[in-house]
Amino acid sequence: MKKTATLFNKWRSDLLHVMYPNFCLICDVETAHSPSAVCPVCENDLQYTYYEDYTEPTLLDQLFWGRVPLHQTYAMLQFEKENSTQPILHALKYKDRPDVARYFGERLGEKVKQQAKFSDLDALIPVPLHPQKEFLRGYNQSQLLAEGIASELKIPIRSDLLKRVVFTESQTKKGKELRWENMQDRFESQVKGAVELKHVAVVDDVVTTGSTLETCVRRLQETLPNAKISVISLAVAK
Ligand SMILES: [Zn+2]
Repeated sequence: MKKTATLFNKWRSDLLHVMYPNFCLICDVETAHSPSAVCPVCENDLQYTYYEDYTEPTLLDQLFWGRVPLHQTYAMLQFEKENSTQPILHALKYKDRPDVARYFGERLGEKVKQQAKFSDLDALIPVPLHPQKEFLRGYNQSQLLAEGIASELKIPIRSDLLKRVVFTESQTKKGKELRWENMQDRFESQVKGAVELKHVAVVDDVVTTGSTLETCVRRLQETLPNAKISVISLAVAK
């Protein structure tokens, strides 16, 4: 009985911690009444890209040159090893913090909303996680980021346009080389026929090599041959 009570208390405090996170993600200082996941000091010190002020192509624009044509790109934070963006991305991926994804999604949405180049966006498409990964994590951080942006821009999320392919037994029994090819990121649309969207943005948490996004964009070009495709990410690796 005592053991059950201890377990219950641990579970309860874990749950409360998730619902009311008390510590700053970055410096670990207690932020009792702050509505954010980050304390005011660290908030002031976030590593912004300031891409919204650029008149020249950004590093993120250049990353996709010669790979896929993108209409616009935007990333809010700069990610470098050990900088203040790292604990934010880590919390999204490994620390079971959907609240952090929602919080930064809204912040990202505020930034996107201020930029005229995104004013004609009519849908957001989160980069899908492998379903098994999503099951283990409990959420897809890109989906939650997209929800935050969508709440600012008042546009829909179209996850149905990009689903990660789940492998069947028969596919994995194929030759080793073919199997590797199959294991590469594969995405499919669940929508049959043409979709009338003019400007969509694929949403991701962090862009490093850009290869996943490149694959996503290629797939979307088939479903949306007439749409302008953009990329919006919380962070970009330097
Ligand atoms: Zn802090």
